[in-house]
Amino acid sequence: MTRPRIEEITTELLDVPIKRPHQFSTTKVTSKSFVLVRVTLTKGTEGIGEGTTPGIWWNGESVETMKLVIDQYMAPLLMDGDPSQLEALMQRVERNIRGNSFAKAAVEMALYDALGKTYEVPVHQLLGGQYQTWIPVRWALASGTKEGDVEEAGDLVSSGRYASFKTKSGKESPVDDARRNVDIAAGIPSSSPIGIDPNGSWDRMTTRRWMDAFLEAGIDFLEQPLPPHDIEGMASLTAMKKVPVMADESLQSIYDAMRIVQAGAADIFSLKIHKAGGLKNTVKMAGIAEAAGVSCFGGTSLESSIGTAAALHAYGSIPNLDYGSELFGPDWLADDLVKAPLVIQGGSIQVPDKPGLGVEPDEANVARYRRKET
Ligand SMILES: [Mg+2]
Repeated sequence: MTRPRIEEITTELLDVPIKRPHQFSTTKVTSKSFVLVRVTLTKGTEGIGEGTTPGIWWNGESVETMKLVIDQYMAPLLMDGDPSQLEALMQRVERNIRGNSFAKAAVEMALYDALGKTYEVPVHQLLGGQYQTWIPVRWALASGTKEGDVEEAGDLVSSGRYASFKTKSGKESPVDDARRNVDIAAGIPSSSPIGIDPNGSWDRMTTRRWMDAFLEAGIDFLEQPLPPHDIEGMASLTAMKKVPVMADESLQSIYDAMRIVQAGAADIFSLKIHKAGGLKNTVKMAGIAEAAGVSCFGGTSLESSIGTAAALHAYGSIPNLDYGSELFGPDWLADDLVKAPLVIQGGSIQVPDKPGLGVEPDEANVARYRRKET
């Protein structure tokens, strides 16, 4: 068959409301912004991708920077390229554009979608084949109060919607934060695993002092307690062999992955398709973890059903996803960008199985949430 070429790449900004305000370590958000990427191939096939970030505080990118980088720098590099040579195309992008992994991931996602539709296979087949079809999902407790988090967890468990959780921390002092987390863990059903994510806002001494209390409270992972650069500190916490330590902000590339396993600085990798710069890099990172005996967790940048579908294709092809995922984005948004949003059932989410990403944009909603130019 004659291979199609990349004919056009377009982007647009969308702002989608969320169900309840979400408290991160530095900011509280009430809506979620996306850059929607569309790649059109010469035979008319369209692939969609999505870029989104927890906020510019997370790694320095925003949907506005993604749009600019894609429009002005990435699209010209990819024009007339052969999407079946995806690795070569992304290496070309890598050599020409430093950083901007979220923007790169959004475009790579659209290319994978177009490629899957071209060859009529789901993206997980392009990533080496599927390992699992359903993936457990943790809900993030981020109501902003301890009582609110305990109540929310209780409701979710009794209604059978979620069985495992993660808390967001970092708003208070490390000591108050640690105490609050132990109280939340004590307040939720004992059969429910709960992890903590201070987003790098704690210090070595406080974290070390609270490790025994976390272990006793049944907390099953401690995600990125220390600032992203403090690999030595993360290694000293991992060496305590108490609560498993997860690397998230410290792990932004395959090179970070290598450095972290060499330093013994994590028991678990939090994978994220955007920070890794795409699906292929996510699978590469998981391979480094697998070889080092490190577990993986399917992290999220709080994507809609588009980005969540992409993450599912990658995570569904990884054998060492021992801690499940936190792919609750579609459930957290008050509305979605696809015709049939992904559904979380009994605390798990299914890997899509249609060609490409397996989700179709809802053009009425895309128009509804398109950012008005000011
Ligand atoms: Mg995190």
